[in-house]
Amino acid sequence: MQRTAVMTTTSTITTSAAPGRADYSQLIKNGESLILSDDSKIIYGADMREHTTFMIGGRADAYIEVSSPEGLIQAVSGARASGIPYFILGGGSNLLIDDKGIAGIVIKNRYKNITVLDPQNFDYLIPAISREELEKSVFLLIGSGTKLSEVVNFACDNALTGCEFLAGIPGTFGGAVYGNAGAYGKGVGDLVVMAKLIDAASAVCCVERDFFNFNYRASRLKTTKDLLLSAVIRLRRGEEKAVKSEVDKIITERHLKHPPEYIGCAGSYFKNVTPVTPNARRIAAGYFLELAGAKDMKYGCAEVYSKHANFIINPGGASCAEVLRLAAALKSKVLEKFGVMLEEEVLHVK
Ligand SMILES: Cc1cc2nc3c(=O)[nH]c(=O)nc-3n(C[C@H](O)[C@H](O)[C@H](O)COP(=O)(O)OP(=O)(O)OC[C@H]3O[C@@H](n4cnc5c(N)ncnc54)[C@H](O)[C@@H]3O)c2cc1C
Repeated sequence: MQRTAVMTTTSTITTSAAPGRADYSQLIKNGESLILSDDSKIIYGADMREHTTFMIGGRADAYIEVSSPEGLIQAVSGARASGIPYFILGGGSNLLIDDKGIAGIVIKNRYKNITVLDPQNFDYLIPAISREELEKSVFLLIGSGTKLSEVVNFACDNALTGCEFLAGIPGTFGGAVYGNAGAYGKGVGDLVVMAKLIDAASAVCCVERDFFNFNYRASRLKTTKDLLLSAVIRLRRGEEKAVKSEVDKIITERHLKHPPEYIGCAGSYFKNVTPVTPNARRIAAGYFLELAGAKDMKYGCAEVYSKHANFIINPGGASCAEVLRLAAALKSKVLEKFGVMLEEEVLHVK
């Protein structure tokens, strides 16, 4: 088996774990043969600022990239067998990594795949959907490390409708399923038909959509040790021009309210608020934040984005501690003014 130790700036720096947390580097070195497959590379002491859209965070004891299902399975089962904590990283677009970094191994998932499947395999969906609806459907197998933008581009190029709402959301399909990412009242879970998981025993199993208990920014993956390997989604044949124009419209809207990529950010910091009346729409957290004066607030180098009160940004040099302090101050303001307790959408990884 070929193993590659990548000599980058980060890998050559001799690093030890931040004070106050365990250092698994030696254990990882001992278990490398269990963890690494032919397609994976390892970096010790990787700077997590380089791997997240927030551009914040300390070092990971080790970081590997995998680009095949076998590589992902081997990395996860190897880490588990060696007793090494691991963290699955998608696009790093919904994360606030702690200044102490990540103990154990970060497994960056680059398993990309988009394959059109034979629709006859899905006849069993009748009568949950009509025969007519099934005939208009196109089923795609998506590797969990595929970027959402790649799925949207594929849909545009092949005149498939149904996933336009994902346009402009960064990150991978795996990360999107984990948090049921979405917009305009729709979530990625609405598209999922079935999926392959790596379960808690590191075996691969198939599950139907119901398994995930999709809800607003939630899926069952948040409460189990299961990892998404791939998923089958259902789109419909559409009209190329209409699909492309809807995607362009959404991307243009996003450019107007989102910061440019060189500014650190992890999207909406807080979840939208559950209304008191049943079946009413969620109220944007940004609405409360704006009225509470969030846009004028900053702490250290972390600040609220001037065009979006629910975006905390890192224009450069912000620490995790500063973001947490700012977020706590924002929550207090909204609680004080409206009696509403905001809940974080961005995941603090420590
Ligand atoms: C500018 C900007 C705009 C955004 N707009 C939106 C929006 O409109 N709607 C929205 O919902 N989100 C939005 N986000 C947040 C983010 O893009 C999404 O939540 C995205 O789906 C996260 O995917 P990721 O691959 O980056 O996951 P990561 O941030 O890498 O990880 C998130 C979580 O998913 C887990 N995970 C990753 N892959 C897997 C896997 N294969 N199996 C199991 N668990 C896995 C990770 O371990 C982690 O716990 C935005 C972010 C930014 C920066």
